[in-house]
Amino acid sequence: MKIVFLGTGTSTGVPQIACKCSTCTSLDPKDKRLRASVLVKVDNSQILIDCGPDFRSQMLNNNVEFLSAVLITHEHYDHISGLDDLRPFGEVNIFAEDRVCSVIKLNMPYCFSENLYPGVPTLKINGITDMCFEINSTNIQPIRILHAKLPIFGYRIANMAYLTDVKTIDENSYQLLKGLDVLILNALRMKEHIAHITLNEAIEIALKINAKRTFFIHFSHDIGKHEDVQKLLPQNMFLSYDNLEITI
Ligand SMILES: [Zn+2]
Ligand SMILES: [Zn+2]
Repeated sequence: MKIVFLGTGTSTGVPQIACKCSTCTSLDPKDKRLRASVLVKVDNSQILIDCGPDFRSQMLNNNVEFLSAVLITHEHYDHISGLDDLRPFGEVNIFAEDRVCSVIKLNMPYCFSENLYPGVPTLKINGITDMCFEINSTNIQPIRILHAKLPIFGYRIANMAYLTDVKTIDENSYQLLKGLDVLILNALRMKEHIAHITLNEAIEIALKINAKRTFFIHFSHDIGKHEDVQKLLPQNMFLSYDNLEITI
């Protein structure tokens, strides 16, 4: 399995518009972060997790030629607003829980009306629950997590789990996160936030899950510069950066 980190930034991206802080003005390419998304290459499938406002650039930057499916974690703008740009890929299967499917349909009524406007993207929306499901022959296990009070999904695919926008994980979900080779987990910044875990909270959760390697994602500019923050992390934990590719 290969994972391509298409974007590793929070909802505003890094640099943040009009900000002159040292992270936003850094010349290190690792401090330029598009909105969070990964491409999972497994068993001849290419599965996208989340499809935010930078989706088009992410596909072009990484020469992606097809998508087997799109998994959506939740309905916030930075995770779904690129869906219209799926058009060049033809009919694409999208998997999300029912509440999220309704929001997508409400946001893009022109893609779901009875008489479709010519040229609109053909999105096939599939409602999921917390039960395991298959894409081609790959098993996908949704993992229930809380983003403030909003129940959202992370996804486990074989021995990799992608959890973004976590604030809380309950014991049932920890049970589904055993024996991971790779954990991908959000870590917004150092200072506390109502809906996201901090870097220290993320490290604590990562130690509890105890994957062989953990890669953090979904950073705000407040996290600081990649080079400085990476030095603070325990062994086998890494700040991800855009276009990083790992093999499991
Ligand atoms: Zn987000
Ligand atoms: Zn800044």
